[in-house]
Amino acid sequence: MMIKIYDVIIIGGGFAGCGLAYHLSRANINTLLLESNHICSGTSSACAGRAQIFDSETPEYLRIVHQGYSMLPQLGEELDIDLEWELPGHITLYYSQEQLSAHQSKIDWMRKIGLSAEFVPSAEISKLESALNPMNCVGAILAQEGHLNPFKFCWGYLQSAKRLGATIKCRSKVERFIKEGNKIVGVETTNQSYYGKNIILATGAWTGFLTSKIDAPLPIFFTKAEAMVSEPLPKTVNHHIGTSGFYDSVHGNNQLVTLGVGQHRNGCLLISNAIQPATAIDRSSSAWGMPAITQKLSEFFPILKQIRITRTWSAPSPFSKDYQPIIGWLPHFENIYIASAFHLAIPTIPVFTKLIADHIQGQNQIEVSEYLEPFSPDRFFM
Ligand SMILES: Cc1cc2nc3c(=O)[nH]c(=O)nc-3n(C[C@H](O)[C@H](O)[C@H](O)COP(=O)(O)OP(=O)(O)OC[C@H]3O[C@@H](n4cnc5c(N)ncnc54)[C@H](O)[C@@H]3O)c2cc1C
Repeated sequence: MMIKIYDVIIIGGGFAGCGLAYHLSRANINTLLLESNHICSGTSSACAGRAQIFDSETPEYLRIVHQGYSMLPQLGEELDIDLEWELPGHITLYYSQEQLSAHQSKIDWMRKIGLSAEFVPSAEISKLESALNPMNCVGAILAQEGHLNPFKFCWGYLQSAKRLGATIKCRSKVERFIKEGNKIVGVETTNQSYYGKNIILATGAWTGFLTSKIDAPLPIFFTKAEAMVSEPLPKTVNHHIGTSGFYDSVHGNNQLVTLGVGQHRNGCLLISNAIQPATAIDRSSSAWGMPAITQKLSEFFPILKQIRITRTWSAPSPFSKDYQPIIGWLPHFENIYIASAFHLAIPTIPVFTKLIADHIQGQNQIEVSEYLEPFSPDRFFM
């Protein structure tokens, strides 16, 4: 029997894997996607759907975020799916003058590229959110932000990839890499072996487990993040609202709860974030996290104290040693590509997955190196 050799094997069926399958298939690259569970079942299944802009840490990262964000309103049409795109905006609440001052320059960065952002004095927050109790807040920043349905985002990429000829195999966990000399020529899953010229690890929080199988451990860590959704309610929350310091907790070593709440167009509230350090992936909702989130919500929104919670979940929230994505060829291997540890995934995936597809094909090299070089895995192997 002839062995089929794919041009590219993608491991992982989250936002990154599905976005890559789409862009590679669009370029006529013979693509196989392997997912250990089902599509959008990893960290992407926990995503709140925010197209965050304000959380960009540097003007350079904001440039990438802005580019991807600008693509989102038309992406549904391109993928032939209603992504439920809307523009709720985001309010960040500050409880220390120091933190607020540190973030005020972001208002200028955003305005410089035509995005809206403004400081809101604490006395005026209730004009924006009448049900919110801002407590001893020192002020807020209201910034432009979009929202979409994260499952449709993933599904839209996947279905478009399939239409363009990609092969998708779920319940296919990659257990081992098949080596020939110094080259990885294929992978062994629970069911079958597959062969490919290039292999992309779009495996988010699981990436370190896979690279350690080929003795190339990557510094990808994760915390355990928990969230929940309420029954549908009359309109109560107008924007997405969060307390500052979320990224300190999501990248940190402490058990912490920060407020993150938004009301979906169907009336349900998406409420997060309970964060705790983790070394193993555990998808259960914890006895600490659930009450901590509801307690936080009722402090900020006393009128929501009695609401019914209909679903809770937890997922690993991956991050690299320097909190930046890891994108590029894995050093010492000719054909293993890493596409993991994404930061502000929804607005960056449309840009990064297109550039990665170009990188794999050796196309568009000036733009590829300008955008992707800072995220190369090389930085951890010097
Ligand atoms: C609570 C929460 C809320 C969030 N909200 C937002 C938000 O509002 N906006 C935003 O932009 N980002 C948000 N994020 C972050 C965002 O969800 C992630 O950055 C994004 O989903 C990462 O996608 P991914 O494809 O890289 O990883 P994943 O979705 O984790 O995909 C990796 C896939 O690889 C598969 N896999 C792993 N090992 C193997 C193997 N051996 N063989 C085969 N398959 C394998 C896994 O099953 C998984 O499906 C949130 C994260 C959390 C935890």
